Amino acid sequence: MIGIRIEQLSKYYGPSAALDAVDLRIEPGEIFFLLGPSGCGKTTLLRCLAGFCTPDTGVIRFGDEDVTHLPAHRRRTGMVFQNYALWPHKTVAENVAFGLEELRVGREEIRRRVGEALAAVQMEQTAQRGIHELSGGQQQRIALARALVVRPRCLLLDEPLSNLDAKLRLEMRTEIRRICKEAGLTAVYVTHDQKEALSVADRMAVLRAGRVCQVGTPEAVYRAPVSRFVADFVGETNFLEAEAAGQSGDRLTVSLDGTLFQTETPASGIAAGSPVPLSIRPEAWRITRTGGETAGPNTLRGRIEEAIYLGEVAQYRVSAGRHTLKVTEMNPRRAEAGREIGLSVAPEDVVVFPADA
Ligand code: ATP
Repeated sequence: MIGIRIEQLSKYYGPSAALDAVDLRIEPGEIFFLLGPSGCGKTTLLRCLAGFCTPDTGVIRFGDEDVTHLPAHRRRTGMVFQNYALWPHKTVAENVAFGLEELRVGREEIRRRVGEALAAVQMEQTAQRGIHELSGGQQQRIALARALVVRPRCLLLDEPLSNLDAKLRLEMRTEIRRICKEAGLTAVYVTHDQKEALSVADRMAVLRAGRVCQVGTPEAVYRAPVSRFVADFVGETNFLEAEAAGQSGDRLTVSLDGTLFQTETPASGIAAGSPVPLSIRPEAWRITRTGGETAGPNTLRGRIEEAIYLGEVAQYRVSAGRHTLKVTEMNPRRAEAGREIGLSVAPEDVVVFPADA
C-alpha cells in the first residue's frame, strides 16, 4: 500500500488554470474522492496521477518516490473509466490477461492471477464469455478485474459508474468499496455525484475551478462545510443571513430577525452585531404540528406553501417571516400545503461559516 502526496500541482491550458496549486495527501489504503462540478479539474488531476498529463509545476509522490515525470506505463497504476474500455473481440479472460501479457508474465501465472482477479469481482463463471454477452454492471466488474490483475500501486477511477442505470449504480458503489478494501488498495475516485462520494469515500476533496475547497471525511464535509459553495454542492441547504447576538456558555448565539438561535460555534472573536452567514440543512428541521406550540430559541413558525410526497420523505417549501425554507420531513404520514407548522433545529445543526468563507 502506498500513500500519495500531491504538492503545489498546477496545470494551465493557455492562460486558465485547470489545476491551481493543489496540495493533497492521500493515506495508504484510503479510498479518496475528487468531487466537484464539471470543469473543476478532477479529470486533469487524475490524469496527472496516471501520467497521461504533465503538470506545469508541482510534485507527485507515490510513497517516497517522485513520479511527477515518470512515464505512465512505469507508474503501476490501475485505471477504470466510465466507458469500461474493454476489447470487444476478446473474451473476458483475455481482456483481464492483457496487462499481464504486456508485462511478459508466464502463462501459468497469468491463468492463476486472472482467476484470482475474476474471483475478487465475483465473475469467475464468465471467464470464457464474450464481452458483448455481459451487462453494463458486469462489464464494469471486468474492467475492475483488469485493473486489479496487474497488482497496481494505486487504483484510479474516473466516473466508473456513470454509464450504469440507477439501481446498478447503487449496487456497484458497495461493490467497488468492498473490492478496494479487500485488495488493500489506495484508490483515487473522480465523480461529480455527491451521493456516490458520501457513500463510498473514506475522505474526499471538493474542488472548484482548479482549487481544493475542503478535504475531509464525508461526515465532516456534509455536516461542517467551510463555505456556501461546499454546502450547496454537497447536499442541499438553506442559507440564512443572521447576526451575532451574544453567547450561551462559550458558544455563539445568533439572531435571525429577532429569533435567537444557539449554535455550537465558539463565540470568541465574533463581535455582537456582526453578520453571520448560516447553513441549516432541510432535514435538520424538526416539524411540530402547529405553529402555536413554538416558542424559545432555535424555533420558527411557518406555513407550508408547497409539499411533495416522496414516500420515505416529504419535501416542503415553507415561508417563515421573510424567509423561504427548504424542509425535509422523514417518514411523513401526509404531505399537504397550507398547514401552519413550527420548526426547530438543534444547535449542532446550525452551521456557521468561517469568517473567510
Ligand atoms: P468533467 O466533470 O466535466 O469531466 P472535470 O472536473 O473533470 O470536468 P477537467 O476535464 O479536468 O474537469 O477540466 C478542467 C478544465 O481544463 C476545464 O475548464 C477544461 O475545459 C480544461 N481542459 C481540460 N483538458 C483540456 C485540454 N486538453 N485543452 C484545453 N483545455 C482543457
